[in-house]
Amino acid sequence: MKILVINCGSSTLKFQLVETTADSASMGRPHKLARGLVDRIGGPASCHFEVAGSTPVENRLTVDDHEKAVALVIQWLNSMPELRSIDAVGHRIVHGGDQFTTAAWIDDRMVESLDSLCELAPLHNPAGVSGIRAARKVLGSTMPMVAAFDTSFHHTLPETARTYAIPREIAQKHGIRRYGFHGLAHQYSVMCYGQLTAMPPEQINIVTLHLGNGCSACAIRGGTSVDTSMGFTPLEGLVMGTRSGDIDPAVVPFLARKEEVSADEVENWLNKRSGLLGLSGISNDMRELTAAYNQDPRARLAVDVFCYHARKYLGAYLAALGGADAVVFSGGIGENSPLVRAKICADMGWCGLRLDSAANDALIGSDGCIAQPRSAVKAYVVHTDEESIIARETARVLTERTK
Ligand code: ADP
Repeated sequence: MKILVINCGSSTLKFQLVETTADSASMGRPHKLARGLVDRIGGPASCHFEVAGSTPVENRLTVDDHEKAVALVIQWLNSMPELRSIDAVGHRIVHGGDQFTTAAWIDDRMVESLDSLCELAPLHNPAGVSGIRAARKVLGSTMPMVAAFDTSFHHTLPETARTYAIPREIAQKHGIRRYGFHGLAHQYSVMCYGQLTAMPPEQINIVTLHLGNGCSACAIRGGTSVDTSMGFTPLEGLVMGTRSGDIDPAVVPFLARKEEVSADEVENWLNKRSGLLGLSGISNDMRELTAAYNQDPRARLAVDVFCYHARKYLGAYLAALGGADAVVFSGGIGENSPLVRAKICADMGWCGLRLDSAANDALIGSDGCIAQPRSAVKAYVVHTDEESIIARETARVLTERTK
């Protein structure tokens, strides 16, 4: 089955064309045919299209909206006989609220439900929903489409982990609870760890650390999420590229008063001007900060605060789980930075976690074990592939409907 996976941001459209087989439905490693990105939608955009194994095509074109972007992608795919005739489209949607605990078939009513969820996730969902509307307009509403959610994997959070200690009536009235995000990435880490260790999902007890521009930790018991660091929004938890992660909530009204700005503006600072960028004053990119680590005290502090927070969550989740078999790193930083992994796992012998420093230094951008053979708690690195999960879920929902 040929599935077009679409991931829309407010001014971007990322896509992959993947081929799933009956085998990949269970193993989750579909064959990648093509990929691409339309960036800076809303004006002169840059378009990057790439057939697997070939030289990428770069274009600059005016792309007014997501509909134009989808039309461009389809036009490009149709220009190559081997990429024509898509069977289905899988969309990534950040927030599924309480309704969507698994990937769901898209029809008119479903799009209306997604519209109502935009209130809960105003910074993230509208782009995904406009991607769906655009794809339905360009491909017709008879094209099978499925939405996969970043929150779904966390629908198993127990009440104690998902409940904030605020007045219950207020929390219930406004749907305020820990939803958790990055679920597709954490789900992929579980699946990949299962493949690397030949372990069935129900026996997998691990802590996953997804460290990219956005970062989150997840405590996994029996292959399911039982706690996670992002909460009501993706702002909570670990230090991220530009997001603060955990801070005292009293800072928000304090800063609003002192700086004479709205609470929305302070939230904007916490989302866009904080984290590694705010700490270092240099960059949100971990590559630049680790390169400057020995020369620049602000870069060093940013990296150290980042690693310290991740390490605290690792310790907390080991306690929440009553021990775990492994910590699994993923995301651009988790996959590529031996320094960050070493700092997070340093002096963790107390819980039986011992990194193999040569393996840690050598493993960059691929899957494998970086712990010593006798380490009681292992450490693994996996190269995240959220699109595989979206494609697999799309194929599953489609197959179930046609049974
Ligand atoms: P996103 O969350 O946007 O999907 P990624 O998972 O691609 O982001 O991660 C992007 C981040 O990965 C970059 O900001 C960069 O800091 C980090 N990164 C990529 N390569 C390296 C590297 N070699 N060393 C350290 N950090 C890296």
